[in-house]
Amino acid sequence: MSSIPSNLPLRNDLIGEEPYGAPQLDVPVCLNVNENPYAPDQAVCEAIAKRVLDIAPTLNRYPDREHIELRQAFSDYLERESGVRLDVDELWGANGSNEIMLQLFQAFGGPGRVALGADPTYSMYPEYARDTFTGWQLAHRNADFTLNVDALIEQIKAVKPSMVLLTSPNNPTGTPLPMADIERVLAVCESAEVTGAAEGVHPVVVIDEAYVEFRNPGTPSAVTLIKDHPNLAVSRTMSKAFAFAGARVGYLAASKGIIDCVRIVRMPYHLSAVTQAAALAAFEHTDEQLSRVEHLRQTREATAAWLKTQTYQGKPLAVAQSESNFLLFGGSFDKREAIFDELLKRGVLIRVVGPDGWLRVCMGTDEEMERFRTALTEVLRIVE
Ligand code: PMP
Repeated sequence: MSSIPSNLPLRNDLIGEEPYGAPQLDVPVCLNVNENPYAPDQAVCEAIAKRVLDIAPTLNRYPDREHIELRQAFSDYLERESGVRLDVDELWGANGSNEIMLQLFQAFGGPGRVALGADPTYSMYPEYARDTFTGWQLAHRNADFTLNVDALIEQIKAVKPSMVLLTSPNNPTGTPLPMADIERVLAVCESAEVTGAAEGVHPVVVIDEAYVEFRNPGTPSAVTLIKDHPNLAVSRTMSKAFAFAGARVGYLAASKGIIDCVRIVRMPYHLSAVTQAAALAAFEHTDEQLSRVEHLRQTREATAAWLKTQTYQGKPLAVAQSESNFLLFGGSFDKREAIFDELLKRGVLIRVVGPDGWLRVCMGTDEEMERFRTALTEVLRIVE
């Protein structure tokens, strides 16, 4: 319960609200916030320390507000990761993709406007909408969590949103988003019949690619569409596959026009010199930082196969198709809180999230996954 004194002039629409966030508990196996479980190598830690030491004598000055060197590093990374060369003015960084998203809402949402998503999806989206006084509406996904593109397009035409927000792959379901679906949505948003915020204005289509490096190899990223679609914004992060969640670095790939809109709402010097230095050092070690991604993909596939062999109330567990580093599983857990609690008692923290009946587990190290399997096997025997 909120402990905010009632004599404080908290905004009316925030009264009764709680701060967002998964529990941060000191338990042996943390599989709840979709981090990369592998710590940076010693060489990467040393490179970070060196870069930070190099800029420390300049910390009396503000950092490069435009973070040009880092934007160049985003460009180099995306060329390597997705095969697309974007210019520095088509890239933008912030403190996590959370901040990127907030900046997009600040620039393109606002009172009287609506952002449209497809549920179930990431639970922070309604919070960015709330914080920027933007309406938030949803088109429902299919039963298998794939995007119902026809339903979404109908909603776009009816609602005329200023932003359409899709997650690829989706969280908490892991569902991939085919490029053909994105292209259909872009075509509708660019068509005359949808005018977004005002006559002649098209919605911005935001694709949140926080987990995209975990997609199956050979699948393109939405960044490949940016040069042809000035209303497309692709949000990325170093927090997940890149194993850099603690540094808080997210980035946006989009047309120069979109980046210039975001630059209007950003706080001056929002990215500290220390953050920029650490991110540059990590990008110098991209191979090491990404070296566990393939293993985590294999862990996901093996864990999905194992989960399907487990039963609850005599029925095999359902597992949502995932191209991410987590799995949504269960489907029929009528006591998911009890399952969560029993796992926690055994030192394994997962997440109660998503539609009723489901739980989400993030891929950990081999040892952590072993503990998860042992604990879940026990728990499914006692919670019925
Ligand atoms: N988008 C999605 C879909 C996420 O799941 C998350 C993190 N849970 C984020 C964005 C934000 O991540 P970060 O701010 O660490 O980049």
